[in-house]
Amino acid sequence: MSDAYDLVVIGGGPGGYVAAIRAAQLGMKTACVEGRGALGGTCLNVGCIPSKALLQSSHHLEMAEKEFSHHGIDVNGVKLNLKAMMERKDKVVQSLTGGIEMLMKKNKIDYIKGWGRIEGAGKVSVKPADGKGKAQMLETANILIATGSEVTPLPGVEIDEKRIVSSTGALSLPKVPSRMAVIGAGVIGLELGSVWRRLGSEVTVVEFLDVALPGMDAEVSKQVQRILTKQGLTFRMKTKVTGAKAGKDGVTLTMEPRDGGDAEALKVDVVLVAIGRRPFTEGLGLKEAGVEVTDRGFIPVDADYQTNVEGIYAIGDVIGGAMLAHKAEDEGVVCAEIMAGQTGHIDYGAIPGIVYTHPEIAAVGKTEEQLKKDGTAYKVGKFPFTANSRARCNADADGFVKILADAETDKVLGCHIVGPQAGDLIQEVVNVMEFGGSAEDIARICHGHPGLPESVKEAALGVAGRAIHI
Ligand code: FAD
Ligand code: NAD
Repeated sequence: MSDAYDLVVIGGGPGGYVAAIRAAQLGMKTACVEGRGALGGTCLNVGCIPSKALLQSSHHLEMAEKEFSHHGIDVNGVKLNLKAMMERKDKVVQSLTGGIEMLMKKNKIDYIKGWGRIEGAGKVSVKPADGKGKAQMLETANILIATGSEVTPLPGVEIDEKRIVSSTGALSLPKVPSRMAVIGAGVIGLELGSVWRRLGSEVTVVEFLDVALPGMDAEVSKQVQRILTKQGLTFRMKTKVTGAKAGKDGVTLTMEPRDGGDAEALKVDVVLVAIGRRPFTEGLGLKEAGVEVTDRGFIPVDADYQTNVEGIYAIGDVIGGAMLAHKAEDEGVVCAEIMAGQTGHIDYGAIPGIVYTHPEIAAVGKTEEQLKKDGTAYKVGKFPFTANSRARCNADADGFVKILADAETDKVLGCHIVGPQAGDLIQEVVNVMEFGGSAEDIARICHGHPGLPESVKEAALGVAGRAIHI
């Protein structure tokens, strides 16, 4: 058929829209189907972007309230205007999602509004998002599933997005809750818990395991919990939530020690459920199309991102692995290139993960625990920000840089940073790792002074036991 597509992408998140743009750049006639009414997916609409906008605004408030005076700046009458803060956040989201719509036009991609369903190889039906009107049928050589993920529910804790909220509700609360409970000391729990604590809530984080940010380097997890506790977050570790009941005057959260002990109740105004996310494939018609899913609902793919059905591909959160926007984007690019007959590759060992608390937390590669488990002989170089002149000028010196390198070859195997602008600092190490570089390579590169990146250089020098400033 002459008006058939080369590619129909289902889902307009960072995985889907980026794949569509790359496919169009490669000359493929492409459509992108999105049901939520705006492009950008979870990330732009209810994830990365609104959360970072609120993290930045609430950080400014905290600086004005608590830190400016240390710099000799007296400010009186600092006051939160939550409505204005939320409006600014919404504007940031709207401008960015609108920008993606422009990119679709620029690349001559058909943005088709509605919910897509696979009707067999090469066929996608699109139902209008409002449920009204007839479904449209698209014919295509290839289908790419990029439908992302949704909040994992917790039995006994029913989300109403008002008093018992997911991250989506927590990004738009109309007033600052006096008391807030966060279930899960993961990325969302710590980021959004930090936002509401800064805005005035008394925040208790309830975590089933004995560490915050499980999976991160253990030293990082410990340090982060210590710093956030100092900032005013209360952690209840090794604690199991058994239920939550919303009443007129708040929510009663019931919990008990994970390893046995007395049950207790915590009275709060808002509960945030942040215990992870699960793949979203509802209404896609996967079973009928013969596309396999794992017992946890993820879509398995081969090295070319192709599912078990020829011509049907999948990328992003829906295939599992790190649920990160940049991982989804990179998969989108590589998958489109493979469809166009090119070769593509992602180094999954060099994908950075960043938590945008203050200080930030950033990690790439292996943790010490993983290296020990693998039996890899390694060396450690560590440098505290208290010994970095720029961090001291900025009065922002909590945390450290830790570089892990192979004991024999000196190749960088991992880097873990807690500290100011950790998310930007880690990129240098990601680049070195992608080029197969060593700690010595970083240590020999000239770093501008006074600068936070000098901490990375000093940690790299530390691998060989020759840091200068400590
Ligand atoms: P998604 O972004 O989920 O997009 C999938 C899209 O598909 C959705 O828009 C959905 O409406 C649409 N869709 C689903 N089914 C259909 C269908 N049948 N038809 C049509 N459309 C459909 N990651 C980071 O890297 N950095 C961060 O700072 C960060 N912060 C986050 C903060 C929060 C609060 C949350 C919840 C997540 C955050 N993430 C962050 C994770 C990030 O949002 C995801 O990893 C990323 O959005 C995954 O991209 P994706 O394209 O796979 O899926
Ligand atoms: P997460 O996996 O980061 O953390 C979930 C936490 O909840 C874990 O600590 C886990 O042990 C705990 N938990 C699980 N079940 C529990 C229970 N019943 N009771 C108490 N604690 C329980 O998940 P998340 O914070 O919901 O985030 C979801 C995804 O979104 C993550 O995979 C993350 O990659 C992504 N995300 C990324 C960023 C970022 O990159 N900055 C920000 C937000 C979200």
